[in-house]
Amino acid sequence: MSLISAEIAGYLEKSSWIRKMFEAGIALKKQYGEQAVCDFSLGNPDLPAPPAVGDALRTMAENAGKPFAFGYMPNGGFQWAREALAGQVSAEQGMPVDAGDLLLSCGAAGALNAFFRAVLEPGDEVLAVAPYFVEYGFYVSNHQGVFKTAMSRPETFELDIEAVEARITPKTRALIINSPNNPTGVVYSREELEALAALLERKSRENGRPVYLIADEPYRFLSFDGVKVPSVLPLYPFSVVVNSFSKNLSLAGERLGYICLSPLMENRAELMAALTLTNRILGFVNPPVIGQHVMAHALGSQVDVGVYAQRRDAMAEVLSGAGYQFSMPKGAFYFFPKAPGGDDVEFCRVLMEEKVLAVPGSGFGGPGYFRLTFCVDEEVIRRSAGGFARAMAHFA
Ligand code: PLP
Repeated sequence: MSLISAEIAGYLEKSSWIRKMFEAGIALKKQYGEQAVCDFSLGNPDLPAPPAVGDALRTMAENAGKPFAFGYMPNGGFQWAREALAGQVSAEQGMPVDAGDLLLSCGAAGALNAFFRAVLEPGDEVLAVAPYFVEYGFYVSNHQGVFKTAMSRPETFELDIEAVEARITPKTRALIINSPNNPTGVVYSREELEALAALLERKSRENGRPVYLIADEPYRFLSFDGVKVPSVLPLYPFSVVVNSFSKNLSLAGERLGYICLSPLMENRAELMAALTLTNRILGFVNPPVIGQHVMAHALGSQVDVGVYAQRRDAMAEVLSGAGYQFSMPKGAFYFFPKAPGGDDVEFCRVLMEEKVLAVPGSGFGGPGYFRLTFCVDEEVIRRSAGGFARAMAHFA
């Protein structure tokens, strides 16, 4: 007698690579001590939250005894929080958005689930550009959708518009892109996004209903060397932006994010009403109270991105020094180098023998590569140089 569904049993059996590496890391650290292991497996932001976060919490503590300080609120978040956020999003996206175009959610993850619940018919397809954030597939099947992928261009990971077109069918309801990208660090150019928008306009007409473009942007704040992250909102009426405060304020555990509808979308009030309902009935009920106070107070501040930039340079030095092939990440906090020998799972196993933890690219739909996170101290990056060199020598 099975206690759980066959689908979830299957997921447990396959358990994600990130989790596997996380667990292997715990075992290695127990055996050899924390200091001996260089763990680049998890994207858990380690930089301290900016001081405005602590200030907001102290003010909240002073008001904690007031009635309804932690009460329910409208399912899409406090009106004052949405108004404050609208100013910031308008500046970031280079287009005026209104508080009514924004719904606050439990992280970007909650926003994606609320969106899929609102728009998918059973059997509708959602396409993601690979390599991709592995949770997308779970979120789509949570809502009876079918998850599909279209590969990006080899090595550069730029958008391959023909590959996307080849994967669109009459059942395609949405395309999800993530720029700056986890795991590749790529940032899509305005030209690539314009070409994508033109394709989706055409496909929406052919399909007789919108093919949504979801831009998942938790790393929008983190691009390097002056690279700009163009907005999709002015390019395509059926576009939505999903974002969160997990990375820019290092608030990943507090679960605050949002979804913003393109101001060009006609009749978008209907979609916003649906999202407000799905945010509620998925059991999120409303976004976290504390997160909203913190967010409103901390708008305009962010973690010290200079630290991430320095770590990126350190990691690039270590990898180049050991002879690895990679594209320099333009944004986010990941490297996605080629796995020596070509078999990413085997390579990560060898690397683990050197007590260096990475995640095989296969876990992101990018076999032949591996992912490294630079959410670790620069000292750990420097210390990993010997391990990377020996792992490379193993495949020479
Ligand atoms: N999208 C991408 C690309 C991510 O990397 C993550 C988290 O790592 C998420 C979404 C989920 O973020 P949140 O913590 O806001 O739910």
